[in-house]
Amino acid sequence: MNQVNEILRDIASFGKNEDGSYTRTCYSPEYFEAATAVEKQMKSLGMKTEWDAAGNIHGILPGTRSGAKSILIGSHMDTVPHGGLFDGAYGVASGLAVVKRLVDEGKKLEHPIEIYGFNAEESNPIGGTFGSRAVTGLVDPKQLGLGDALAVYGHTVDEIMGCQREFSDVKCYLEAHIEQGDYLDNEGLDIGVVSGIVSVIRYVVTASGQSNHAGTTMMKKRRDAMVAMAKLIVESDKACREIDDKLVLTVGTITCDPGSENVIPGRVQCIFEMRHMETEKTDELIKRIREIAAGIDTVEFTITNKINKGSVQCDSHLMDVIGQAAETCMTKHVVMPSGAGHDANPMAHKVPSAMIFVPSKGGLSHCKEEWTDPEYLEKGADVLYETVLRLDTEG
Ligand SMILES: [Zn+2]
Repeated sequence: MNQVNEILRDIASFGKNEDGSYTRTCYSPEYFEAATAVEKQMKSLGMKTEWDAAGNIHGILPGTRSGAKSILIGSHMDTVPHGGLFDGAYGVASGLAVVKRLVDEGKKLEHPIEIYGFNAEESNPIGGTFGSRAVTGLVDPKQLGLGDALAVYGHTVDEIMGCQREFSDVKCYLEAHIEQGDYLDNEGLDIGVVSGIVSVIRYVVTASGQSNHAGTTMMKKRRDAMVAMAKLIVESDKACREIDDKLVLTVGTITCDPGSENVIPGRVQCIFEMRHMETEKTDELIKRIREIAAGIDTVEFTITNKINKGSVQCDSHLMDVIGQAAETCMTKHVVMPSGAGHDANPMAHKVPSAMIFVPSKGGLSHCKEEWTDPEYLEKGADVLYETVLRLDTEG
């Protein structure tokens, strides 16, 4: 038994919109209201709290053995505009529920427990997973336009560089999160033991043809960049499905020049985004996309890499411990990758990290319909609690 449902509603009710969705974008007053509620909870549990310039709220519950390394638990308190109740806040609530249960049961751990409520995990002008990247020192001070973007929030690049912490005193990082996909829900499972976070690879794809008069240029004469791009998108989608059923390709943006109703498009640009755990699969897909592009001879295609965020493996020992904890809690669990990015990604660059997923009803997330049944929220926090107990006895 834990109180994760009560705690979640206490810390995540801020920024509620009329349609039932939640908006707590980074550094917004609503974000700080929620993070302040987290701080209140931390203080009521006897944790020492601190804020940093990245807007993160951080609490420490001391351990009983001097020199014992900290067990970190965290997730983010910001949301996308018109997001749901559970994304991010559930992970912070789970950490608080673990500490609350320890306090209520009068249990003292050898290891300190630290909880992070991170800011700016979602897509934003300073870059996603910003709070956790600030703490892990993974913010690049030379990032284009960073100074100006931070100035809007009243901060400087130097302040952010000062948020980096020492990790030699950290044992591991744990994050509970809603799945944001429909796998657990479809399979009727309680818990996902996350094996890793898939890569995010984006290419800028440009088709260059010839703008011309829409009335006088006959079809066989056309070098229409829009039609060529449409062919490339449809064929690439087909190739992606053929390579692997866990490989995903998304073309979510398009710009068209000159963008006029009566002019044949001369230049069309899209971003092709692909994700998978294995580099070989994404390498194969981009190779196929280049081949398909080369076969469309009405236009010239250029394909250049824009973003290459490699996949991250979760720590195998931590995964084992979470698996054992899930057994103890008698939950139906499965090992699975995460298709979405998380704060665990930057953290995994510094310390052994792992994640616990709970089902998202219908796989919906980043919308007002985002939902996880209270019993699953409780099971996830129970598994986190058991995991922490087991890790504490390891020394
Ligand atoms: Zn999230």
